[in-house]
Amino acid sequence: MRLVHASSCRAGWRDIGIIEKGRIKYKERYNVENMILPIYTYGQPVLRKVAEDIDENYPNLEDLIKNMYDTLAHSEGIGLAAPQIGLSIRLVVINLDLISDDFPEYKGFIRTFINPHITELDDTETDTMEEGCLSIPGIHESVKRPTRIHVTYLDENFQLHDEWVSGYLARVMQHEFDHLEGKVFTDHLTGLRKQLTRSKLQSIVKGKFSCNYKVKVKR
Ligand SMILES: [Zn+2]
Repeated sequence: MRLVHASSCRAGWRDIGIIEKGRIKYKERYNVENMILPIYTYGQPVLRKVAEDIDENYPNLEDLIKNMYDTLAHSEGIGLAAPQIGLSIRLVVINLDLISDDFPEYKGFIRTFINPHITELDDTETDTMEEGCLSIPGIHESVKRPTRIHVTYLDENFQLHDEWVSGYLARVMQHEFDHLEGKVFTDHLTGLRKQLTRSKLQSIVKGKFSCNYKVKVKR
């Protein structure tokens, strides 16, 4: 997921440092040049696949997670799902520390989600907020989503979590976990907004867009 307010993100992302085993290590200087993976953009078939669960033996998982955090920071995003770097596996990293100026409850919130599944959507309450996506550069649209979800996932130590989540995190999780189901946020648009977005999406498929991070466009 891409930050809508880039200013608060710029203020924060230089502080990320090196992530090891899901913990932030500030003493080493963060090296932006290393381990930045290209983001697969709209039109890439991997974004339409249902991603598969992984286990502890997945090759170089620790490095992969670190590279995903590096890539997320480089592209000024708050969430990144593995299909967005070309891997059809159920792995997501989320950094909400970047928005903690606006949402103080997320101070220090940098978490890895392995094999996440949304088991229940409580749609008694919904809200509508603007979203963007690293795989869909230049498009920001309002999306209506339930405010409370039930999720299961493993953390980076493969400990199982089973919990109800609400608030902005529930929105970010829905956006990111959608990627694992082969969905993107523009799929949620309806009517005129959907029609107006169609040609912009086609431009992305053709590579006619600009953004300030590395991408891999469908060829
Ligand atoms: Zn996205």
